[in-house]
Amino acid sequence: MEQLWRPALDKIIFFFLIFVSCGKHPDQFFVDEKLKFAFQEFINEAKNNGKELDFSKLKKIITIKENSKILGRCLNNEIQINITQANDQCRITVSLFHELGHCVLFLPHFDEGLDIMNTKINESCVFYFLEWNQMMARIFKGKSQ
Ligand SMILES: [Zn+2]
Repeated sequence: MEQLWRPALDKIIFFFLIFVSCGKHPDQFFVDEKLKFAFQEFINEAKNNGKELDFSKLKKIITIKENSKILGRCLNNEIQINITQANDQCRITVSLFHELGHCVLFLPHFDEGLDIMNTKINESCVFYFLEWNQMMARIFKGKSQ
């Protein structure tokens, strides 16, 4: 009797796992290796700021090489980071946070002061880390300071 039940039970567990993991988990979609550290940072900061993230709209996060001024874009639920411009840890982090700000947090641009959601990323990338915690509170809690 036990032998007959086993295969059916395996199938149920298998389908159940697929069903419950649908869409919500960040490990369900593709993130380029070069961007994983910054993506993990985004998840950590969201957690620190008590924000629950929903990645169900996002398909993948990739790198591109493009000779333009553009650091990144979010198009059709796909984030592209231009590693020709976003060519160090700081710029990758800031541009990925910016695009996730658009595509996951649904934030518009914000140009009243230094912010991840500035239309143009400041040339001196390290400036962003001087006000990092305030910026995180702003994007994840909607607080302006
Ligand atoms: Zn933008």
